[in-house]
Amino acid sequence: MSKLAINDGEKAVKSCPGDILTWPIVNKAMEEAVLEVLRTGNMSGTDITRRFEREFADWHGMTCGLGCSSGTAALHCAIYGAGIGEGDEIICPSITYWASCAQVLSLGGKVVFADIDPETLCIDPDDMERRITPRTKAVVVVHYCARPADMDRIMPIARKHNLKVIEDVSHAHGAMYKGKMVGAFGDVSGFSLMSGKSFAIGEAGIMLTNDKEIYDRALILGHHRRHAALTTESLKEGAGIPWGGYKYRMHQMSSAVGLEQLKKYPAEMAEIDKAMNYFWDLLEGVPGIKPHCPPKGSNITMGGWYNPLAHYNPESLGGLSVTRFCEALEAEGVPARPGCNKALHQHPLFSTIDVYNQGRPINAMKTPSGRQEDMNLPVSDGIQSRIFTVPWFKRYYPDVIEEYAAAIRKVAWNCEELLADDPGNPEGSGGWCLSFKS
Ligand SMILES: *Cc1c(COP(=O)(O)O)cnc(C)c1O
Repeated sequence: MSKLAINDGEKAVKSCPGDILTWPIVNKAMEEAVLEVLRTGNMSGTDITRRFEREFADWHGMTCGLGCSSGTAALHCAIYGAGIGEGDEIICPSITYWASCAQVLSLGGKVVFADIDPETLCIDPDDMERRITPRTKAVVVVHYCARPADMDRIMPIARKHNLKVIEDVSHAHGAMYKGKMVGAFGDVSGFSLMSGKSFAIGEAGIMLTNDKEIYDRALILGHHRRHAALTTESLKEGAGIPWGGYKYRMHQMSSAVGLEQLKKYPAEMAEIDKAMNYFWDLLEGVPGIKPHCPPKGSNITMGGWYNPLAHYNPESLGGLSVTRFCEALEAEGVPARPGCNKALHQHPLFSTIDVYNQGRPINAMKTPSGRQEDMNLPVSDGIQSRIFTVPWFKRYYPDVIEEYAAAIRKVAWNCEELLADDPGNPEGSGGWCLSFKS
């Protein structure tokens, strides 16, 4: 008699989850704020955006904020702002979304990928240091799936080698690393604020910095109507036209939603934190899985727990593939997806594709092979079979969370039922983006 739902046993999740997974949470005040923008005919202005920038920067204790049309744009501004140009290298972890780094290709720069730490899934400081060359100008630090990177190790290495630190905070809004907010450690940081992220306000992004020159460079790249604010002398004569040929203005409807989101986000983070911690407490001692979050009692927090992950150890489950494990969870009624972002160094954009008809691969610069010289990134290469996405609880409904946890316990403890017809993980699992829908 099989117990698991995938083998026609009884399904573990019976109750309706209600809005426990619903995101984003849109309240009346947000609706009113958008209507206000529409009614005043002020869709393309910048006054509401400037208020949002001020409040978002203040929240991080930073002096300058620049609202952008997307997180991709904000990080483009950050990379250009940090002074990256022709022939420069930036080091970026391979396990992240492409918009952590691909913008550098249009600036004449090159991405060198570093491996990740198997616990934090953020850049491995030792591997990062190993890849520094005289051409390296910056490192991109991604706080991956809400977990802050090891800033105590990363910052001294970057300072020692005189590198700019660019934080990609698109997964970790509001997360704290030892008493300080992520996004406030580096020289500049970029955030996606699109609707799937923890701080969700539509399609938008923001760049933060305490360095007025970085801010001014960002402004000149793609914010042509705001050049009156430039104070960097060397940029002033070029004011009026965006140097990048880009228009990166944030939409005022998103800015208006953002001002409201700032008010309710701390309470949302607290509820998510309570729900996710409760969930993981219920799974303590289950073989083969453990949470991707800092150890209990550390003063590192997960912010909004964007796309929460479980570490999966097939060796503790008789060698069962994470793909089969997740199929069994789905059958029990638990949304679960194997893998995470695909390793970027495996994508041909970064090895063979000649984007601008330059007669060589875009990411090759003048090196003959056209490839990153050292492609030894074992953790990034192997991570897809050792990770899966767990439900992201936005509400603390203990009864529902208990049911989900019980379903996961059931699958783990009955994994031998799945071993016989485990097809293994498919070639090339993971995705170029984390969305459940694509
Ligand atoms: C979503 C995301 C971005 C880009 O944000 P958009 O707002 O979608 O342009 C950048 N970096 C990471 C790590 C992301 O997940």
